Amino acid sequence: MNKTLILNARIFTPGRSSFMGWLLTEDKKIADFGENDVPETLKQSADELIDAQGQNLLPGFIDIHTHGCLGCCTMDADPEKILKIASFHAAHGVTTYLPTTMTAGTETTLRAIRCASEFVGKRGDFAKIAGVHLEGPYFSAAKCGAQDTANIRRADLKECRQFLDAGVVKRISIAPEFPENLAAGDFFLSAGVSVSAGHTNAVYADMVEALNHGFRSVTHLFNGMSGFTHREPGVVGAALTLEDYAVEIICDNIHSHKAAQNLAWRAKGPEKVALITDQIRPSGLADGRYHQADGSEFVVSHNGTELRLPSGVLAGSALTMERGLRNFTANAGAMLEETWRCSSLNAARLIGIDHETGSIEKGKLADLTILDEEFNVKRTIIEGNTIYKK
Ligand SMILES: [Zn+2]
Repeated sequence: MNKTLILNARIFTPGRSSFMGWLLTEDKKIADFGENDVPETLKQSADELIDAQGQNLLPGFIDIHTHGCLGCCTMDADPEKILKIASFHAAHGVTTYLPTTMTAGTETTLRAIRCASEFVGKRGDFAKIAGVHLEGPYFSAAKCGAQDTANIRRADLKECRQFLDAGVVKRISIAPEFPENLAAGDFFLSAGVSVSAGHTNAVYADMVEALNHGFRSVTHLFNGMSGFTHREPGVVGAALTLEDYAVEIICDNIHSHKAAQNLAWRAKGPEKVALITDQIRPSGLADGRYHQADGSEFVVSHNGTELRLPSGVLAGSALTMERGLRNFTANAGAMLEETWRCSSLNAARLIGIDHETGSIEKGKLADLTILDEEFNVKRTIIEGNTIYKK
């Protein structure tokens, strides 16, 4: 049995506020942890000692909405590219993620699901893939964002069945204002898939109805949805006020203003916010102008943090999870003791993997991230093994 002992760490657990202490992993799991100095006997029986130097030990990040990076995209349906993306995630503290599709035709989507699903259960020097998030194609063209309007369509249960049978679908974003799409919500809910309202022009009443059809979250709150007004609160008003909705949010300070992040925190609290990156193909690349195989171009600037089309339009997010957590914690005016759940446990709950990962608790998998005071990732540990170290 492989035993790793992490010493001198500030540990964040669900039960209480953070404390300085130690954590022991045995095999793939968290065997024990405690305050202050570690018992000498444990020290002697450990195979590996890691000195966390007083830094933060958090559950590994879980990103349930991310498309690609380093020039690669989930839609490429290329195993080598999936590995490249998954390694990039591990270097940013992510231990589990959902490769996320974009609105496309049936065959293209099926290929992407099949390819990503091949990695479910695989372990190596990369973040774990728990399954796929289908972002589309059952959206509202009125709120398409960067999604391809030509392929946006109403849900078709035959196609839903094909998607489900192609691999491991963990989550789907759907616009709930159409009856066919509500039926798809019922269908995916009954298959244990997490159903989220996204790219939607729904009114408040539609969002109340969607709760009856298994919708339990809102995809990238504020982006790609009807906004709040006092007479028609829209998707934003429903998401913020209906307790049963959790929210994804992109905290890059570009896709959502600092004050909007603060509002989300005030309305939803520490257990209903899941930070996502929504990274797309150019994220992680150095500043410059890039040409893609399909003839399109994009421009990366501001030290890799801004992605634009040559026209100047924002092309998507280049956020990483540790920066998202840093921004959100600051914008919420909260402590890391309150916000850590937003980068791990809340997402784990949404996709039904919280029984095995997402928090530091005895018996859960040792999926961990060590962050320094500035939220830089120092180490990523997956099932007890160090996958990334800086
Ligand atoms: Zn989107």
